[in-house]
Amino acid sequence: MGRSSKDKRDIYYRLAKEEGWRARSAFKLLQLDEEFNLFKGVSRAVDLCAAPGSWSQVLSRKLRGKDKSEEVKIVAVDLQAMAPLPGVTQIQGDITKISTAQEIIRHFEGQSADLVVCDGAPDVTGLHDVDEYIQAQLLLAALNITTHVLKPGGNFVAKIFRGKDVTLLYSQLKIFFSSVTCAKPRSSRNSSIEAFVVCQNYSPPEGYVPNMSNPLLDHSYDVDFNQLEGPNRIIVPFLACGDLSAFDSDRTYPLQLDSSKEYQYLPPTQPPIRPPYQQACQLRKNNLLAKEDSPSGPLDDALSTLHL
Ligand code: SAM
Repeated sequence: MGRSSKDKRDIYYRLAKEEGWRARSAFKLLQLDEEFNLFKGVSRAVDLCAAPGSWSQVLSRKLRGKDKSEEVKIVAVDLQAMAPLPGVTQIQGDITKISTAQEIIRHFEGQSADLVVCDGAPDVTGLHDVDEYIQAQLLLAALNITTHVLKPGGNFVAKIFRGKDVTLLYSQLKIFFSSVTCAKPRSSRNSSIEAFVVCQNYSPPEGYVPNMSNPLLDHSYDVDFNQLEGPNRIIVPFLACGDLSAFDSDRTYPLQLDSSKEYQYLPPTQPPIRPPYQQACQLRKNNLLAKEDSPSGPLDDALSTLHL
C-alpha cells in the first residue's frame, strides 16, 4: 500500500493535512459548531482528552480569532503529551483522577468556563460491552469535572458510544442540562457507533454541590434510571450535522478532487510526540525484539519481570 492510499480511503484525513489540522477529528467539532453555534460568546474553554490536539486547534483558531485575543483561556488535558499550541495551556493527566480535575479548576482561578468539550476515547478492546462501559466512564468523569468548572447556562459536548445502555447516560446528562441532543457529524463514519452529545444550558439541580470525592450521581435525585422502561425511557433528539454537500466519511474519493489542481501527498501536520509504541520501535531498530524461535529474548525477559 502506498502512502497516498489513506488519503484516498479517508477524505477527512487528507483534508486535515491540507488545512493544517493535527487530526481529522477537527472536522467533527467544526461541523458540530455549524449546527449548534457552540463558540458564540465563548472566551474560556476546556478541552478534555485533547491529544494530539485538533480540537484545541479549532478552539484556538475560532475563539482567539485573527487578533489572537489574550482574553481567551483554553485549557487542554490528556494522558499523553501534546505538542504546544498558541493560547492553549496544557495539563498532562488522567481526567478520571481528582488531582487532574483540581488542576483544571486551579487554572480557571475561580472563574467559570463557557464551554467544555471532550473527545475522550479509551483504547478500544474490540469487546463492545467493555468499550462502551469505559467510554461511558470517561464521559461521566468529564461531566464531573464540568460540574466544577462550567458556568450556569454553559455548554458541554462529549463523544458518546450509542450502545444499548446509552439511555442511562442521557438520563444522567438531562439532570444537569436543559437540552441534550445526540449529534452525528458527517465526518464521523456511519459505520461507527460514535456520536456526540451536545448538552446546552447547564442548570444543575437546586442544591447540587459538585464533589470530586463522591461518585457523580449518587442517585438521590429522583428516579432509579435502570427502572425506566418503554415510553418512560429518556429519548433525546438525534441530529445528523454538517452540510449535506460535505464529504461523506464512508466514501472513497479519487486522489485528484479538482481537475485544475494536481494531487500532492502531504505528511501529517504534527507527528506523534512520545507515542506509547516508541519503545517498541526503538527495540525493533536495534534488533532487540523477541523472535518467534527464541522464546526468551530481551523483551520476554522484560515482560517476565513484569509478570506478564
Ligand atoms: N480530540 C482529539 C483531537 O482532536 O486531536 C482527539 C482525541 S483522541 C480520539 C482520544 C484521547 O483521549 C487520546 O489522546 C487519549 O489519550 C485520551 N484519553 C483517554 N482516556 C483518558 C483519560 N482517562 N484521561 C485523559 N485523556 C484520556
